[in-house]
Order: sequence, then C-alpha cells, then structure tokens
Amino acid sequence: MRPFEYAIARSPRAAIAAFGAAPPDAAAAGGSEYLAGGTTLLDLMKLDVMRPGRVVNINPLQESAGRISAGPRVLRLGAMARMSEAASHPAVRQDYPVIAQALELAASPQIRNMASLAGNVLQRTRCTYFRDTSYPNCNKRAPGSGCAAIGGVNRQHAILGASEHCIATYPGDFAQALIALDAEVEISSPSGVRRFPVSKLHRPPGETPHIETTLAPGELITAFEIAATPLAQRSLYLKIRDRESYEFALASAAVALDLRGDTVADCRIALGGVATIPWRAREAEARLKGRRMDETAANAAADAAFAEARPQLENGFKIELGKRTLVRALLQAATLEG
Ligand code: SF4
Repeated sequence: MRPFEYAIARSPRAAIAAFGAAPPDAAAAGGSEYLAGGTTLLDLMKLDVMRPGRVVNINPLQESAGRISAGPRVLRLGAMARMSEAASHPAVRQDYPVIAQALELAASPQIRNMASLAGNVLQRTRCTYFRDTSYPNCNKRAPGSGCAAIGGVNRQHAILGASEHCIATYPGDFAQALIALDAEVEISSPSGVRRFPVSKLHRPPGETPHIETTLAPGELITAFEIAATPLAQRSLYLKIRDRESYEFALASAAVALDLRGDTVADCRIALGGVATIPWRAREAEARLKGRRMDETAANAAADAAFAEARPQLENGFKIELGKRTLVRALLQAATLEG
C-alpha cells in the first residue's frame, strides 16, 4: 500500500473541509477518499487500484448520520448505518421487504457488519481487469488505456448500458432496492444539503467510465429516504448467482407492485448483475401498468426490459437468465400481501 495522509472528521462539514484540504501532491497521487467501513476502499488500496493521497475517516459520523428512523410517511436510513443494522431493523423487514432482502443477500455477514449503506451503494466494479493492475488496458482505472474485457473474459459483464469504452457490471444489490422504491439520496456539499432520486446517482460509462456517479468531489451522502407507499409493502428482491452465498449477481431484480385486484396500478423494476449501473427498467414498467398481472404480462415486461441488451462473446446467457429472473420476481411479488 502507498503512503497517504490521514484525517478524521466528526461532522459532515469537517469531513468536506478535510476532503478538500488535500495538498497538491495528494491530489496528484489520487485525491481524497472518504473511509467508512473500508470494505471497498482498503481492498482497492492494497491492490494499488485506488491511490488516494488523503483518506478522511468519517466513522465518527455514525452518531449523527447512522440512525434509522421509520415514521408513518417515510423511512430514513442514515448513510453510515451498517448493512446488517438496516437489514435487521423491524420496520425495514416488515414494511420495506425489498430493502432487507437486498441487503441480506449481499456479501458475507462479516462484511455486512462492517460496510456502511452509502459505501455499499458506491462500491466499485468487480471487473477482474479493473482490480488487477498487471492488465494495462482499463479505461476505468487508467482513462484512455482501452478495455481488456471487450474481447477478453467477459462472462460476468454487462449487457445493458455498456459503451465501447467499458462493459463493467455494477456489482451491488441495495441500490436496486432503493430505486425500486423511488428513494431519494441526501447529500452534504460545500454549498449545503441537496436531495435527488437514487436513480440519478450512478452514471453509465459512456466515454468516461472512470466517472461513476453524479457526485461532485467532496460531496458526502448522509441519508436515504423512502416514502411509505403500497409499492414498498409488496416488494421483493430476487438474486441469481453461481453459488448461494457470498457471491455477486449474475442477474437480479428488485420489484415493487401496487395492485388493485389483479391489475397493476403502479410498479417499479430495477435490475442488477446485467447492467453497468443499477438499472431502472422503465420500458418493462410501462408494459405492466394497467394490465392484469399474470405470466403473459410478466413475460412481456421481461422482453421489454432486455430489448436493448447487447451481449459480449461470453455473457449472452444473461439475456434469458435476466428475463426469467424478472418474470419470477414479478409473479412472486404478486402473491404478497399488499
Ligand atoms: Fe476496465 Fe471497464 Fe473494461 Fe473492465 S470493462 S477492463 S472496468 S474499462
């Protein structure tokens, strides 16, 4: 691991100031990074993939930005809450099942005890070429160097949202659950606090795969807020992977349904394991709204969700797998109590 400056912050304001106070040689080395659970950052620093000149420890913010509160109209998840805390919270389990399920199906119990909610949402890709610096060609790690995965080993890679510069899959689960419930993210920035939908947090790779979010440098996620709606009650997360635990998704679906009788009054669908970002499947949602919820409707929605899929040499199977995952998730969700 390379040497770096270390700072510790006890408030969002102090964290932002410490982040921006990195000296010029720190910026040249790789700028500043926030440290919460460290389950992504420390791994990637040891692998020499991330090389921050300054690390700002924000764990003292757990007091102020780590609380979970469930009111009659909104669930607020502090960004510094640990994944395991949110997954086991009684209100989350009862009224927002897709959140609890997505968190519980992620990583291992040890990692869920360490990792913060915001860190989980911001976790970086598992693309082997990104994580192994012996490969020189990775636009995400070294902008302009090319993409070793295109034409390389790409069974795990994305079929939706890719570009000719990067086909890396977004590896998380929790962000999809948030998007399926129209969650908002709260950000502290040097100019104050702002909020926007979680669905606008991640950027597709385009020509700049190294820029992964819409956050400005130094901006800090402080909370996620989710409205208590019928969608939240009838929601679930289905994750398909090579083994049943401690593995990333090959395909996953976070679905939320508002049914009136058998008819879909409203729905949200977010896909994982198949796309470069947590993927909101708006075309699939449009196919379902106003229709009777049955296998025919679910299949039509799945076809729409993957109509724009562009497979590589080794990952074409994800189209059929993704469709089946979504159909199963929708039909299972329809059987839940609303
Ligand atoms: Fe790098 Fe993206 Fe290509 Fe992987 S897919 S090698 S992360 S540019």
